[in-house]
Amino acid sequence: MNADRTAWEERSVARVVSPVRPRKLAKVPFVEMADGRLQGVVSSGSDIERVYVSSIAAGTLTYNCSTNNNRPCGGLYGDPCKHLRSLVDEAVLQYGLERVAGYLKAEVPENGSLIYSIQGGVERSQGAAVFSRFLRHLAYLELPAASGPLPELHWFPSGVS
Ligand SMILES: [Zn+2]
Repeated sequence: MNADRTAWEERSVARVVSPVRPRKLAKVPFVEMADGRLQGVVSSGSDIERVYVSSIAAGTLTYNCSTNNNRPCGGLYGDPCKHLRSLVDEAVLQYGLERVAGYLKAEVPENGSLIYSIQGGVERSQGAAVFSRFLRHLAYLELPAASGPLPELHWFPSGVS
C-alpha cells in the first residue's frame, strides 16, 4: 500500500477526512479504544502537516504523546498535554463519558472532567503502531473517494452536539 501512504503524505489530514465531521475530525482525525488503550491521532494546532499520537492506558491511566515520527511531544512534561486533552474530549463526544471512563477504569467525580482523572503519569511508548492503524483507516476512507461519490459517508452523523 505504498501508493496510499504517499498519497496521504501529500494531503492534509483535514482535507482527507473533512466530509465526515469537519470541525472535530480536523483536530482529532482518529480515536479508538483498542489494545487496552484510548488512543488516537491529534493534529498539531500550529502545523497541519504534523500529527501527534496520543494514548492513555486503561487501568494504570499512564499516558504518552509523541509525533508520528516517534519524537516525544514537547508539551508533555507531567500533566497531560493539549493533545491528550483533545483526545479525551473527542473520545467523550464520540463514545460518551460513561463508556470511555469505563474502558479506562477511571473514576470521574460527579460534574468532574475525565481529564482530571488521568493521573498515571507519563509512560513512554511507541506511537508507530497507532499511526499505522490510522493510515489503514484513512486508506479505507479514501477507497470510495477514488471512484466517485461517497454513499457510505451518508451513514455518518454530520455532527455531535
Ligand atoms: Zn502532546
